[in-house]
Amino acid sequence: MADCKCMTPPFHYLDFESQNMGVDSTNGRFGEVSVETCKACGSRWLRYFVEHEHRSRSGRWYRAPATEEMLDALASTNAVELLRKAPWHFYGGSYFKSTGKRGTGPIIVDM
Ligand SMILES: [Zn+2]
Repeated sequence: MADCKCMTPPFHYLDFESQNMGVDSTNGRFGEVSVETCKACGSRWLRYFVEHEHRSRSGRWYRAPATEEMLDALASTNAVELLRKAPWHFYGGSYFKSTGKRGTGPIIVDM
């Protein structure tokens, strides 16, 4: 999986099978939660996307490798908590002015 498309940003949605897991409306945000499966290697990823429609450059997404355990526990409302527990993640979006970087920093989803 190290050299796979799912490990090398920028990511393209066509490289993944995406399963919509609902919207996280905690704190009035509308985070879109999905599980994406890499078409090339089968790795699964927990993806979270949020933006504030009235604020420019507020779009941000995070994605972390999803373990079986994470997926069993996953609901839209605990997706952020699960991302925070993951050892690392990719992040990007207009807020970060990035198409994707690997990181271990905080998951910041509230505007
Ligand atoms: Zn892959």
